[in-house]
Amino acid sequence: MNLKLLIATIITLALPGLVSAQTNRAAATPGGGVAGAADSQPIRITRSGAQTSRQGPAEHFKGSVRVDPLFQAKAPARASGGRVTFEAGARTAWHTHPLGQTLIITAGVGRVQRWGDPAEEIRPGDVVWIPPGQKHWHGAAPNSSMTHIAISEALDGKSAEWMEQVDDSQYNAPAAGPAPTGPSRAQQLMGDVAPKLAELTDNVLYADVWERPELSKRDRSLVTLSALIAMNRPDQLRSHLALARRNGVTEREISEAITHLAFYAGWPSAVTAAGVAKEVFGKK
Ligand code: MN
Repeated sequence: MNLKLLIATIITLALPGLVSAQTNRAAATPGGGVAGAADSQPIRITRSGAQTSRQGPAEHFKGSVRVDPLFQAKAPARASGGRVTFEAGARTAWHTHPLGQTLIITAGVGRVQRWGDPAEEIRPGDVVWIPPGQKHWHGAAPNSSMTHIAISEALDGKSAEWMEQVDDSQYNAPAAGPAPTGPSRAQQLMGDVAPKLAELTDNVLYADVWERPELSKRDRSLVTLSALIAMNRPDQLRSHLALARRNGVTEREISEAITHLAFYAGWPSAVTAAGVAKEVFGKK
């Protein structure tokens, strides 16, 4: 199938003359008789329920997932689509799409997460675009099922590259809600005492530096945690631990970072960090 698609693509690209000659011959077969194959093709309706649904394979999904195939374009077109229903808690493994993917949410409440960013809640009517090559997962929310129509295009016959499963600690990290309104955390902390510092914190540190694409938010969180643990700064560490979890750093990874840093930053700094982490993890 993949090989056939690839060969068809190569032929179409390399030998346009040959393909159009074959197409014209095909159009002259019984039922055709009109000029050009495109004119002779009838509209095809695949009736609802005519295609067999299947379980999402355990290799690529976790929990109960039903896949209803919807369409598979014929070469040289290469889009395909399916309706995927995830029961509460079910999700895909981490994966990428060589040419990206569009998700149209049709029922329930779900989540989508790009590696390095916090998970985001998705609801019916939302349309999600996953850019090519971005590691991500999608699935249901912990307490609600979710159905989406997934559309992607194959490159060299392949429309997804599958990776490791999304573990429970990654899945249970809090999802980003709507953008916060009201005064920022910096404004609340020091807006009245040091307004310029609060403004620089919001506009330079968070709105500019943290948003730069050169490092993912997850990596920025790990770097920031390391600095705060090494410098023994429990107050800033407290809020950055919560931010790190929203940015996709798991509790297990934070514990490992604290252990690792004991050898570079000193035992007392690591012990202080472990105490703060215990407090933050207990507050989910
Ligand atoms: Mn996907």
